[in-house]
Amino acid sequence: MIKINENYLKLQASYLFSDIAKRVTAYQKDNPTKEVIKLGIGDVTRALPDACIEAFRKGVAEMAEDATFRGYGPEQGYAFLREKIAAEDFQKRGADISPDEIFVSDGAKCDTGNIQEIFSNDITIAIPDPVYPVYLDTNVMAGRTGLFSDGRYEDIVYLDSTKENGFVPELPETPVDLIYLCFPNNPTGSTITKDQLKTWVDYARKEKALILFDAAYEAFIRDEHLPKSIYEIEGAREVAIEFRSYSKTAGFTGTRCAYTVVPKTCMAWDTKGNAHLIHALWNRRHSTKFNGVSYPVQKAAEAIYNEEGKKQVKGLTDYYLKNAQLIRKEIADMGYELTGGENSPYIWIDGKTDSWAFFDLLLKEAGVVCTPGAGFGKCGQGYIRISAFNSYENVKRAMERIRKALK
Ligand SMILES: *Cc1c(COP(=O)(O)O)cnc(C)c1O
Repeated sequence: MIKINENYLKLQASYLFSDIAKRVTAYQKDNPTKEVIKLGIGDVTRALPDACIEAFRKGVAEMAEDATFRGYGPEQGYAFLREKIAAEDFQKRGADISPDEIFVSDGAKCDTGNIQEIFSNDITIAIPDPVYPVYLDTNVMAGRTGLFSDGRYEDIVYLDSTKENGFVPELPETPVDLIYLCFPNNPTGSTITKDQLKTWVDYARKEKALILFDAAYEAFIRDEHLPKSIYEIEGAREVAIEFRSYSKTAGFTGTRCAYTVVPKTCMAWDTKGNAHLIHALWNRRHSTKFNGVSYPVQKAAEAIYNEEGKKQVKGLTDYYLKNAQLIRKEIADMGYELTGGENSPYIWIDGKTDSWAFFDLLLKEAGVVCTPGAGFGKCGQGYIRISAFNSYENVKRAMERIRKALK
C-alpha cells in the first residue's frame, strides 16, 4: 500500500492568500462598480529592464542556430554569470566571495526550501515570527517539528520580531543549530545593522551553528551603512549561507533566476564529530536534483550587471521605494505606527485592532487590499502589510481612499 509522508498532515493549510481572494471576490460581487486597488501582493508589477530584454532576446537567437545552440549548461550556472555576481555583488563591497561558491538557481524560494535537506533531522531550528512561510513549512515536511498548537509548531525555537526589539529578533535563550534570518525583512520591511548582524555571526561561531541569510530584498537598501550581504560581517564566511534573487531586484518573478552562496569555509559535523564542507554537500544535492537555469535567462540576469542594467534596476527599485515613501508618510500622518518602507518595499502597520478586522475595514470602506499580518505568524497579529508593488497613481489613490475611510 502506498503511504504518505505524515509530516504533511501537520501542515497548517495556508488560508492566507485564498482567504484574501475570497473576501475580495465577495466584496466585488456586492460592489460591482467599485474598483479594488491591490496593495497586498508580494509580486512586482513593472516590466523587465530593457537591458535584460535585449540580452534575453540575444540568448534566444543563439538557441535558434545550430552553431550557437546550447544544451545542458553547468548545474551551478554559467561562469559568465557567476563571475559577475562574485565581482559586483560581493567583492566590490569588500565581501570575499569567489565564483565557485555561487550556485545559480531558478529561485530563492526553492533554495531556502531545499537547503534544509542536507542537515540532520535532529537539529534545533530557529525561525523568526512573523516569517516568510517557506522556512517553516519545509522543516515541518521534513519532520523536524511536532504538532501545531496554539499558533505554533512544537520543537521550533521562534524568534519574536516585535515593536519592542525593533523587529530584529534577539539571540535565542536556548542553543540552536540552524537560524533563518531575512533582511530587509518580508513581511515587516525591517532592516538589520552591521552590529546587530555581527551579534548573530558571533553567536553562530560560538555555537557551531549555521545562519541562512535571505537577502532577496537587498536591492532596496539605500542606506549605505546597512549590510547588503552577511559576508560584509567579519567571520560570516565560516557560518553563513546567503540567498539572493533577481525576482524583486529586477522583476524576474516570472522569469526565474536566483542564486545561493555557500562559502567553502562553512562546515557541518557528523555524529562522530567529523567536519564536512557544506559546499560539497550542497553541490552534490544541487547537481543531483537540478539541471541549471536556461541559457537565455542567465544572459538576461547577466545584463543586470552592465552599466545600462544597473541604471535600470536602480530606476525600478527607486520607483517602488517612492511608492513606499508615500505610503509611510500618509499612514504615519493618519496616526498609525509603522516600520519598513525605507530600504524595503514593505510597510508593516500596527492597525491597533485585529489583523483581519483592519483588513476588512480597508477593503470595505476604502476598496484597498492589504495582507493581514496574522497570516505570517503569531507576532503578526494586530498588524497589516502594505506592499509598494503597484503604480504610483494607484498608491496615491489608495492612500486618499484610506484617509477618507479612516476619518
Ligand atoms: C520573494 C521572496 C523570495 C524570492 O523568491 P524567488 O523564488 O526567487 O522568486 C525569497 N525570499 C523572500 C523572503 C521573498 O519574499
